[in-house]
Amino acid sequence: MINRLNAIIPDERVLADEPMSRHTSFKIGGPAKALVIVNNEEELASVLKLMNEEQAEHILVGNGSNFLVSDEGYPGIVIKLGGDFESVTRDEEDPLLVTAGGAKLLSAVSSFLIEQGLAGFEFASGIPGSIGGAMFMNAGAYGGEMKDIVEKVRLMTPDGSEIFERSNEEMGFGYRNSAIQEDGSIVLSASFRLSEDDPAEITVRVLELQQKRNSKQPVNYPSAGSTFKRPVGGYAAALIDEAGLRGYRVGDAMVSDKHTGFVVNVGNASCEDVLSVMRHVREVVKEKSGIELEPEVRLINCAL
Ligand SMILES: Cc1cc2nc3c(=O)[nH]c(=O)nc-3n(C[C@H](O)[C@H](O)[C@H](O)COP(=O)(O)OP(=O)(O)OC[C@H]3O[C@@H](n4cnc5c(N)ncnc54)[C@H](O)[C@@H]3O)c2cc1C
Repeated sequence: MINRLNAIIPDERVLADEPMSRHTSFKIGGPAKALVIVNNEEELASVLKLMNEEQAEHILVGNGSNFLVSDEGYPGIVIKLGGDFESVTRDEEDPLLVTAGGAKLLSAVSSFLIEQGLAGFEFASGIPGSIGGAMFMNAGAYGGEMKDIVEKVRLMTPDGSEIFERSNEEMGFGYRNSAIQEDGSIVLSASFRLSEDDPAEITVRVLELQQKRNSKQPVNYPSAGSTFKRPVGGYAAALIDEAGLRGYRVGDAMVSDKHTGFVVNVGNASCEDVLSVMRHVREVVKEKSGIELEPEVRLINCAL
């Protein structure tokens, strides 16, 4: 498999036994069989076709900010977008439309939009994900979500055979959900409809949200953000707090004492430490409130 990958992708972008702890914001996870960085659509299509031919287990990683990977690692190929997928451009004919590649970080898109005097993306400026991960999750914060600003998304079928576009409606965005969670399509780029504003005013709003985030969230510890989804009729963080689990710790994984919605890695936490904390939290919250918390973080080669 590695030899066949090397025939398509230069050696320096095929990383055998690559520790996933290097590619996740949790800084947790054993080695993937290989991590391959694809720099353009042709490379991505070739790699996906190869995966299909070989029936090889594979997964796409964005910025790894919503990933919890097993201590044993991942027994397949991890595909990561780079190169051309990190572009961001403003449409010349339709200047309120901006298109960003699947690997572009939301923070970098936000900086570009400030320079361009385009507003509407502020809510996403502090979410530490990529465009691809944000489409997959319909990422959102502070009253905004991707659904509000996406005009269209360019995608590739999971077998690499076709490139197609979906409108906002066709993306099926819901709470931390989108149609691609079902069909496995890959986000090549997304286009956003924005509005003109003074760069100084946009900056003020971005900085305000940044301050809010820094004051409420444990940004100084590795994590994957909110561990559990918001349940119907409540907030995961409040339920966890009311269950007396603030600071609950197994090994180096801990329910943050700053924000109980986050499990943080306070040192050298293993995936198993995090899972133990998550299992206990789910059990106690269920016992005390009757509500079953569902993980928001994607569990890779591990389970609750
Ligand atoms: C400190 C912190 C704060 C956070 N705050 C927020 C917040 O306020 N709001 C929020 O919504 N989230 C938040 N998150 C979670 C996370 O940043 C988001 O879910 C983000 O959208 C994940 O993007 P990513 O690129 O890191 O995706 P990854 O974690 O790499 O992947 C997530 C999923 O997306 C898929 N994926 C990635 N790229 C593509 C692509 N190109 N095509 C198809 N599928 C793809 C992956 O296969 C995976 O299933 C936070 C996380 C952290 C660590």
